[in-house]
Amino acid sequence: TVVGLCLERGPGMVTAVLAAWLAGAAYLPLDPAYPPARLAFMAADAGIAALVSDGEAGRALAGQLGEAVRAAGLDDPVVAAAVAAHPVMVPAAGAVPPGRLAYVIYTSGSTGTPKGVQVSHQNLANFLASMAARPGLAARDALLAVTTLGFDIAALELALPLATGARLVLASQETARSAPLLGAEISRHGATVMQATPATWQALVDDGWAGAPGLRALCGGEALPAALAQALLGRVAGLWNMYGPTETTIWSACRQLAPGEPVTLGTPVAATRLHVVDRAMRPVPPGVPGELLIGGAGVARGYRQRPALTAERFTADPFAGDGARLYRTGDLARWNTSGTLEYLGRIDDQLKIRGFRVEPGEVEAALAAHPRIRQAVAAFRGHGTGAGLAAWLVPADPAAGLPDASELRAFLQGQLPEFMIPGVFTELAALPLTPNGKVDRAALPAPDGQRPDLAGAYVPPATPAQELLAGIWAQVLGVERVGVHDNFFDLGGHSLLATRVMSRVREVLGAEVPLA
Ligand code: AMP
Repeated sequence: TVVGLCLERGPGMVTAVLAAWLAGAAYLPLDPAYPPARLAFMAADAGIAALVSDGEAGRALAGQLGEAVRAAGLDDPVVAAAVAAHPVMVPAAGAVPPGRLAYVIYTSGSTGTPKGVQVSHQNLANFLASMAARPGLAARDALLAVTTLGFDIAALELALPLATGARLVLASQETARSAPLLGAEISRHGATVMQATPATWQALVDDGWAGAPGLRALCGGEALPAALAQALLGRVAGLWNMYGPTETTIWSACRQLAPGEPVTLGTPVAATRLHVVDRAMRPVPPGVPGELLIGGAGVARGYRQRPALTAERFTADPFAGDGARLYRTGDLARWNTSGTLEYLGRIDDQLKIRGFRVEPGEVEAALAAHPRIRQAVAAFRGHGTGAGLAAWLVPADPAAGLPDASELRAFLQGQLPEFMIPGVFTELAALPLTPNGKVDRAALPAPDGQRPDLAGAYVPPATPAQELLAGIWAQVLGVERVGVHDNFFDLGGHSLLATRVMSRVREVLGAEVPLA
């Protein structure tokens, strides 16, 4: 069975993962910050038998799921008393059959709904053994865990210290999102390992983090920019580039980067094979770009209840020829002459937003469901701090035009997590098309850099402090002007940008503003 976990970050989250495993079940992370409709979809699609929660979002979800799902609220005094009275369980080695599922994790789906990747204990155990050796973790280490449980890489943060005897330090949600708090937390606990996406590492560097001489930095989830790699190499004891899709269990390749060396993906983790192939699935020689296929012990069981999609992405492994399967990553890569893999981009439209996978098709389907929108396209635009997800929309009625940005955002918030919501919406009379009638993404105009069309009227800053703050917002958000009543999120803001605002406010006004 699958157990849904709708939990705030805390020791209870770690206990619940272990409890699900010892009961022989897989866990399904249900991020309390996600829209209720998305949580309900994932819970139903995964067919959870039980739900463990500790807050309002979990209680609401339990109510929605009804009697068929057994719900336990850790904040319910009756449940807490039952847990406290329960004898301590010491699991026997080999208590869980390796073929059992360890977790089901949903990732963005190009056809409009998310899909659940099913990873077994066998997949996870091979991965953890590999990580314990390279990059390496031992009893003397302290790993600072910062990643939401909804992202598969959180399983490394929780399970690797427990499997190796290292100390696990769980950063609170507030600390994980705030660069100054995170920087302080690394020193306070003497962390020797931290894993994060490039966006989080970048936020630390931008905040003026001096670094930590005893820290090994694992960076992965999306391409690591060379400038960020150089900035980190001067601040930490070691920097590793970690690469891999959820479908092949967390990371499938890694490399420790040396100063001055180009950023590459490195070599496969244990019992993993990487193949770069052409369209006919023939291996290409070093230097020639092709699609990266991953085979071996990390290849997951497939997508939950999606046999056609599973068959499309997980194909028979022609190189092993023993009935094993390969995962087609959709990543474009090439081998260099020293046997190291280089990442070149995607062969499809899949995006990464602050480490999270986003299929533009899912954002487009959500937008097109609005009655006043006829067509929608979503893509990544911009560079630096202003970069992010943008949408181009054709209104259903050209005379009436589009709903304002605040309304569009509120509409999407009902269905999509924060990172999938575009920062800017640009109205078009028609989408640009290629000669064969497909949307020509390259021909989309630059997104509107003006203050977006918000519901409230523009009220200009009046005092010197207001002017300074509006200037900071405009710079961080990449918009031309900011009014004193404007909503940060409606202007395209998100938690990491809020952290940047905090840093700039500290620099310019000498004031400490808490993230909350
Ligand atoms: P996810 O399953 O959400 O972790 O997304 C996996 C995808 O993220 C991969 O297929 C790559 O496109 C991208 N990715 C992950 N790590 C890296 C990395 N170190 N360098 C470049 N791309 C990466």
